[in-house]
Amino acid sequence: SIAPPALEVDGVSAGYGQTTVLREVSLVVPAGSVVALLGSNGAGKTTVLRAVSGLLPVRSGTIRIAGRDVTGERAPRRFARGLCHVPEGRGVFRGLTVRENLVLQGAAGREDDAVERAVAAFPILGERLSQQAGTLSGGQQQMLAMAAAYVRSPDLVLVDEASLGLAPIIVDEIFGFLQQRAAEGTALLIVDQFARRALAMAGHAYILRRGRIVHGGPAADLLNAELFDSYLGGQ
Ligand code: ATP
Repeated sequence: SIAPPALEVDGVSAGYGQTTVLREVSLVVPAGSVVALLGSNGAGKTTVLRAVSGLLPVRSGTIRIAGRDVTGERAPRRFARGLCHVPEGRGVFRGLTVRENLVLQGAAGREDDAVERAVAAFPILGERLSQQAGTLSGGQQQMLAMAAAYVRSPDLVLVDEASLGLAPIIVDEIFGFLQQRAAEGTALLIVDQFARRALAMAGHAYILRRGRIVHGGPAADLLNAELFDSYLGGQ
């Protein structure tokens, strides 16, 4: 049998207070695939991720994870179903050590697994295991956030602005890690200001403009100069 999509967002509207931010947003992340969600600042990309992970209730529409309707479920429940959300601004606990950040995500009794896998992916973390996460460089914190996100072997990961403020060589390392996890079968929905890099990794891409999806199609098509300029000019 064919696996259901890792994620289906169907006609979702959502907002804050009186403000409507998302209008009838629909998108699909097939199981094990990489999908990019692009658009200018304030288009609503972060809001889509928050709606998917259950941090923001939707006003209408449906969200399905692995074929199951989770629209009425709160965030912890969705996380238990194999969803992981790496928020903008690094999802690490700054006051905990690197090792503690990793172990916290893992199952009891499997603590060393979590640490070993993280160090295999990002060797620099191995030299910093007993250092407080808040004292790491921005790039190292982002590496830690990524490694921690994958400790529980999630089925779907949402990554918000992983490359923000980082040197290109660090971005390569982080995107390489994400690509490898995707190749192993973890679906990825990625939001990033580096549109070209996200498109290079993604199979499919959506463009959000003022809370509406204005384009969806193969990522390779968007790398075509004309389409890129019309939707992502300036990025
Ligand atoms: P960025 O890349 O700048 O984060 P984005 O595409 O992710 O942009 P969102 O952060 O989703 O956009 O914001 C979409 C709109 O929702 C913006 O107009 C923003 O001002 C508004 N917004 C975001 N968060 C809140 C909030 N907590 N309360 C009220 N309005 C908000």
